[in-house]
Amino acid sequence: MKTLISSDVSLLANLIQEGKVVIFPTETVYGIGASTKNEVACLRVYEIKGRPKDNPLIAHFPSIESIEDACVLGDLGRKLLEKFSPGPLTLILSKKDKSLFPKELDTLAVRIPKNPVIREWIRLTGGPVSAPSANLSGRPSLTKLTDVVRYFEGKVDGILIAEEPSFGIESTVVSLVGEHPTLLRPGSIESEELKTFLPDLVVPNLFETSPARSLSTVPLSPGTKYKHYAPSAHVILASTDEFIHSFQVGFDPKETAWIGFSCPEKVRKGKLTQDLEKTSAKEEEGFTKFDHFSIVSTNEEYASKLYAFFEACDLFNIQTIVCEAPKPGRGWEGLRNRLEKAAQKK
Ligand code: AMP
Ligand code: MG
Repeated sequence: MKTLISSDVSLLANLIQEGKVVIFPTETVYGIGASTKNEVACLRVYEIKGRPKDNPLIAHFPSIESIEDACVLGDLGRKLLEKFSPGPLTLILSKKDKSLFPKELDTLAVRIPKNPVIREWIRLTGGPVSAPSANLSGRPSLTKLTDVVRYFEGKVDGILIAEEPSFGIESTVVSLVGEHPTLLRPGSIESEELKTFLPDLVVPNLFETSPARSLSTVPLSPGTKYKHYAPSAHVILASTDEFIHSFQVGFDPKETAWIGFSCPEKVRKGKLTQDLEKTSAKEEEGFTKFDHFSIVSTNEEYASKLYAFFEACDLFNIQTIVCEAPKPGRGWEGLRNRLEKAAQKK
């Protein structure tokens, strides 16, 4: 199949109208989309991703008004969208238009992407556009055009080129249809902010109760597959002490990569670069040299770089990725959740 890779929003909107599948960037991650009004096209998205059929898609809308045409928004829903949209907040609402995908559900997940170019594209498709994250099911979502092209060229009808994702983790999902509003998936818009509007927000225990896993108790099982947001490499979520300790002992630096806040002395002095001299020999043609360290300064920067780092690690046959635990405070909630999922065994 020929994939049209273009920044021409009209051409790519036409593809959606014709019942085709198009990948597009949002401020969170790339999405793989089809018309919400076209069941066959939406089902193709599941096939391409290998996504389980019982996991419904988010419908992407251009405006609050267009959401109100399709769903029962209510005062609370409107207030939330006025405050947090366009942006990384997904609401689960009751459907007004029962013909929208998935037809068997009375509810619809809705969201308005932040980038005006993407909203204009959705408008031109006749909207809404149903899209899960553009990745193979179970793997990390994608945040770089190069990764999208590598996985999906020849498998989808189009790829829309526009501003790349900056938040880096998937949207916060809040259900407004039950007895109490409930946080279904943490993200960049955090429960504390939401509670200003939703004092009775139910926040289920989305995190493992144990503190960061101890390196000494986590067996290394290279190549093991994980359930969500997980690269092929073995992911270890480490406390700062464990993270720093891991530079000194126990890991072959050629097969290990690190992402976190603490910059080890070895890296600062360039010693690790010497240890890794041979890594460039393993480089795959067309890809730049792999850097075993991604040093970040905020949780937000960490989230924005995480999935692309996971992809690079797999590309360069890294066996173990050591991730420093995020810092308490802003940006902790969504990032911590994704890191725990990535580190979780099936
Ligand atoms: P993804 O598109 O892979 O980023 O995931 C979308 C998330 O929204 C998943 O966790 C879905 O289970 C959730 N979701 C989508 N539609 C609904 C719905 N109607 N009710 C509850 N959760 C939903
Ligand atoms: Mg996903």
